[in-house]
Amino acid sequence: MTWDDLLAGEELAYRTTEPARSARLAPLPDGLAFDVGVEALYAHQREAWDAAQRGEHLIVTTGTASGKTLAFNLPVLDALAREPKNRALYLYPSKALAQDQARALAELGVPRVRSAIYDGDTPQERRGQVRKWANAILTNPDMLHVGILPRHDLWADVLHNLRYVVVDEAHVYRGVFGSHVANVLRRLRRLARVYGSEPQFLLASATIANPGELAHSLLGVPATVIGGDAAPRAERTIALWNPPLLDPELGLRASTLGEASLLLSRLVQRELRTICFAKSRKAVELIHRMTGDRLDSETKRRLAPYRAGYTPQQRRDIERRLVAGELLGVTATDALELGIDIGLLDCAISVGFPGTVASLRQQWGRAGRRGHGLAVLIASEDALDQYFMREPESLLGRRVEAAILDHSNPRVLDAHVAAAAFEAPIDADDRTTLGDAALERAPHVPELRQTKNGWVWAGKDYPAARTALRSASADAFTVVDASTGSVLGIVERERAYSTVHDGAVYLHLGEQWLVRELDLTARHAVVEPFGGDWYTQAKKETSTDIEEPLRVEQRCGLQLTFGRVSVTEQVVAFQQKHVRDQSTIATIPLDLPPTTFETEAVWYVPTERQLAGLEAMPLLLSSLHAAEHSMIALLPLWAMCDRWDIGGLSTNVHPDTGAPTVFIYDGHPGGVGIAERGFDQFEDWVADTARLLDGCPCERGCPSCVQSPKCGNLNEYLDKAGALTLLTRMSKSA
Ligand SMILES: [Zn+2]
Ligand SMILES: [Zn+2]
Repeated sequence: MTWDDLLAGEELAYRTTEPARSARLAPLPDGLAFDVGVEALYAHQREAWDAAQRGEHLIVTTGTASGKTLAFNLPVLDALAREPKNRALYLYPSKALAQDQARALAELGVPRVRSAIYDGDTPQERRGQVRKWANAILTNPDMLHVGILPRHDLWADVLHNLRYVVVDEAHVYRGVFGSHVANVLRRLRRLARVYGSEPQFLLASATIANPGELAHSLLGVPATVIGGDAAPRAERTIALWNPPLLDPELGLRASTLGEASLLLSRLVQRELRTICFAKSRKAVELIHRMTGDRLDSETKRRLAPYRAGYTPQQRRDIERRLVAGELLGVTATDALELGIDIGLLDCAISVGFPGTVASLRQQWGRAGRRGHGLAVLIASEDALDQYFMREPESLLGRRVEAAILDHSNPRVLDAHVAAAAFEAPIDADDRTTLGDAALERAPHVPELRQTKNGWVWAGKDYPAARTALRSASADAFTVVDASTGSVLGIVERERAYSTVHDGAVYLHLGEQWLVRELDLTARHAVVEPFGGDWYTQAKKETSTDIEEPLRVEQRCGLQLTFGRVSVTEQVVAFQQKHVRDQSTIATIPLDLPPTTFETEAVWYVPTERQLAGLEAMPLLLSSLHAAEHSMIALLPLWAMCDRWDIGGLSTNVHPDTGAPTVFIYDGHPGGVGIAERGFDQFEDWVADTARLLDGCPCERGCPSCVQSPKCGNLNEYLDKAGALTLLTRMSKSA
């Protein structure tokens, strides 16, 4: 291929080719109520149709660009075209995605289908019209939670005739957000039943390890998995690219962004249409600029960045120019990967592992739609990235993550029990929709009163309005843009002190913001756009108390426990650090109160034999600390989360165990199942972490093995060799 000579040198860590696959087709169903505009379906689209006709809930989990949208639209649009009284609800995780889908539905022009968006931007005077007139209503889970379900009286006709609920991008509903959405969907099922309907749920997801489990967790009822991807695929070359090692002792590598611009410029010079995904807007801008510097002015004009601030019109324009071949190289933040509607690309470059194999696959899925494609991952210095460079099979062969959530986490569930009681009295019949856990929590939720009709809401306000779906804590802080007053996001109290303290650099959808002020009383952080080249890292003191061991087992030759802990953290200072080389500019003290939250954790107590030779302080502590960090770095291999979702603590003697102990806990109050996944996979987790440490070329530990960008101790006292000794012994006793 035209790129063959580029894929050479020490930077090429691995190369493979995934074979082409031809389409498996299936006939269109007989007697469709509308003209689909295609002659035949892919087999998985037909399977989805057949399952829908049998009345089943289903989840379609095929690859990028495999026609998932048609798979769920076919039964929905047929039902609407056939009987205009039928209604369908489409849920999208973001407004932008709902807009894209609304446009696509309108373009299909199916007779008698009247689609409309109903979200926070829908003008008040139009809302009644949408409820009355539209039969395909596109919204988001937040709106369903706070705007639709609590006012179900206004939605009586929609709920009564609700035939289908589409949940697209279902893999996004994991962790805390997913745990909330699972409860919102249960409330929707219950109210539909109150109004006499039993809607079918049609889910679509990126490829994940556990689609059936995810659908079941989200809905509370089983769903048929449609997974056999029958769409054609061109041959695709995959390259893992590791920036050259500049200083083996320190583990220092050449700049990821520099490597990205080098590859991008060379591909573009060969007229190959390429998209390059990076993690922040800053990185996108740098790659764009550095690539331009490597090209003549003619070719340079055929590059463009693609970013969150663009209007839909500007985005369409870039997409159009790319399709027309006017543009050759586009750089985008990976926050946008879901919303990009660009076909026909030759190459896709991912700059740094995007956090999950599922989203890496989604990015790579853009390459090779015209023919043989090239997909590249350029490794960052992060431990997980470097692990993949040395163990490519663990990235390419073995696993896609499981998307996990826990709808019964009381920190999440209680708010929905209150909201459900507000919507209609809760009684024993609601077990089938709300679930057993909801009925068990009802007596413990303040402001619920038991009546002869069941549990009712006795508070004065809307309980749903108290809870934001994207946070585990009712006690959340808002992040406000100082110039416009608009809310950028919300941060749980437990995280606010370490991420939006005074002077913090806060990253949101790839944009950098500087926190001007964190107001603890008003519970908001005021931020302004930030263009500097430094970032911040909080220093905090952490302690844990064991609340309740839930599972105790002898594993890897030691006592391993999964259970509930409470974590107390106090942010005491922060450091400003250069983006370029991580050097410290300044350390600034902070005066913030401690916060305590309960969550789930795994913890282990190494035996004396496993610690032989490591007992002396400070070696003991620094070995445990290094083991904790590197294990945290690899946990995302099993659970779909990133290291920012996980916390840890290691101590030479813990008051509850009386011995050296390592804790790894779910960073979200209440926990969402991440720690338990680690408990279940403990042997593999320990073995792979030992392999990570063993394979890292650095001498004494580096950002690619034991150092962590989120360490509350600022990576002080880490002993790589001690951690390797301990983990190897643990693994051998497994
Ligand atoms: Zn290292
Ligand atoms: Zn640490």
